[in-house]
Amino acid sequence: MSVIELDDVVKRYESGAQTVTALKGVDFHADRGEMVTIIGPSGSGKSTMLNIIGLLDTPTEGTVLLDDDDVTDFTEDELTEKRRTNLGFVFQDFHLLPMLSAVENVELPSVWDTSVDRRDRAIDLLKRVGLGDRLDHTPDELSGGQQQRVAIARSLINEPDILLMDEPTGNLDQDTGRTILEEVTRLKETENIAVVAVTHDDQMLDYTDRTVRIVDGVIQQ
Ligand code: ADP
Ligand code: ADP
Repeated sequence: MSVIELDDVVKRYESGAQTVTALKGVDFHADRGEMVTIIGPSGSGKSTMLNIIGLLDTPTEGTVLLDDDDVTDFTEDELTEKRRTNLGFVFQDFHLLPMLSAVENVELPSVWDTSVDRRDRAIDLLKRVGLGDRLDHTPDELSGGQQQRVAIARSLINEPDILLMDEPTGNLDQDTGRTILEEVTRLKETENIAVVAVTHDDQMLDYTDRTVRIVDGVIQQ
């Protein structure tokens, strides 16, 4: 069963008198335990697709299914709730809060959750990405690769079904990028999550189960 599915999605942007059709009838799905990478030239619609998959934007036409649940007509509040409980995000520039320690950064998305094992899960996740001895370090005391591993641990704190990654290796050297992708591959399997990534990094394709190529708003077969 797909955890996320787009059916015949069209996205139009109106800017002044101009209309840009960024997605022209896109079908997409991702399954648990699978890493899908979206590639394509600049301006082809990758960010737009990732934004719709991440419930950060809504389609002009077509359907979005999350765990077989039609979320196309959900309100902003309902989408925010779905994002918080079902989705994890990892970005090119880490997005860590500089004044918080690694463990506090990882805990942050779960502060609304009053269950007592929050700190334990944060520590467990940091250990699983090899940062068990860096729990109290702030981001400026960590390397780029370590910061990205903190961000990956943070993205998993609410036990999402889908991990969305926007150029996750974009700010890392090649070897560090590979280490990060190996971590993600392992976590994808142990957590049984779908990973959807957008990238320009060719070495990422070595870790990908399926590649989706988009050109000018159309998925290429
Ligand atoms: P990519 O991520 O592949 O570079 P995007 O999804 O960012 O592509 O953009 C696809 C097309 O939609 C481009 O022509 C871009 O200029 C246009 N576009 C993206 N976002 C907006 C927006 N907010 N308003 C108007 N046009 C947009
Ligand atoms: P990237 O590929 O690095 O994500 P993009 O150029 O695709 O960068 O887009 C950066 C941001 O600018 C996105 O949020 C996108 O929605 C917005 N954007 C892109 N093209 C346009 C456009 N023509 N008009 C308005 N906003 C745009």
